[in-house]
Amino acid sequence: MAMTPHVLIVAGSDSSGGAGIARDVETVSAFGLRSCLAVTAVTVQTHDTVEQIEHMPPELVAAQMRAAFAANQVAAVKIGMLGTAAAIEAVGSVLASSPKVPVVLDPVLVSTSGRLLLEEDAIDVLRRDLMPVCRLVTPNLIELATLNGSAPAPDEEGARHQGKELSRRVRTAVLVKGGHSAGSQSIDVLLQPNCPAVRFEAPRLPRGMRGTGCMLSSAIAASLALGLSLEDSVRSAKQYVFDIIARPR
Ligand code: PLP
Repeated sequence: MAMTPHVLIVAGSDSSGGAGIARDVETVSAFGLRSCLAVTAVTVQTHDTVEQIEHMPPELVAAQMRAAFAANQVAAVKIGMLGTAAAIEAVGSVLASSPKVPVVLDPVLVSTSGRLLLEEDAIDVLRRDLMPVCRLVTPNLIELATLNGSAPAPDEEGARHQGKELSRRVRTAVLVKGGHSAGSQSIDVLLQPNCPAVRFEAPRLPRGMRGTGCMLSSAIAASLALGLSLEDSVRSAKQYVFDIIARPR
């Protein structure tokens, strides 16, 4: 009997349900797939504050990933909050010895409320050890600037330039998310080494929502697991997130 493809979610929990694993799992199931999990951190949060963060031991993160691969047909991996350099190293070493499936990395650095979700000394490790084995990295404008060690780009041209720079540096595709910038359109740009940039545009909706980065990266991972191209996966994921923000709450 064929097994249902799974997306392995490597991420942190958020007690408010606004972001993190709860968002990832609901997204993967909306795409008709099942999730398996490696929990990297337990966080105590409301929608306004991060009250407490407990990182899981790196060897526990690695063991969860190995068990998830052993138990299921994992067709893609989504990586969210990692927390520490040791967790990044553990995740990288499991991926190196696992079946080669597309990995989508949402470089979760800071919460909307301003709390650091990745230790500062871990940024180098993320860029050096993990990004090069990913199919796609999905920074927002602030994360992109932090990863490049520069100031946030003032406009779309600047954001493209920074995305291209990161893509060249980590030798993989980068989706620059412009959702938090000003303007009537929400513009994301996909940059890949040796490929022309691809622009995705959607009307900006008047109300914001937490967890959209989690949803977008999980939706891209699910679409890749279903066999869509990278560009079509981004298109389909962006439509999914737009529909979620637009629906009555
Ligand atoms: N908490 C966890 C566990 C997350 O994974 C993330 C983002 O991925 C956040 C918080 C940040 O979400 P927000 O920026 O919506 O606060």
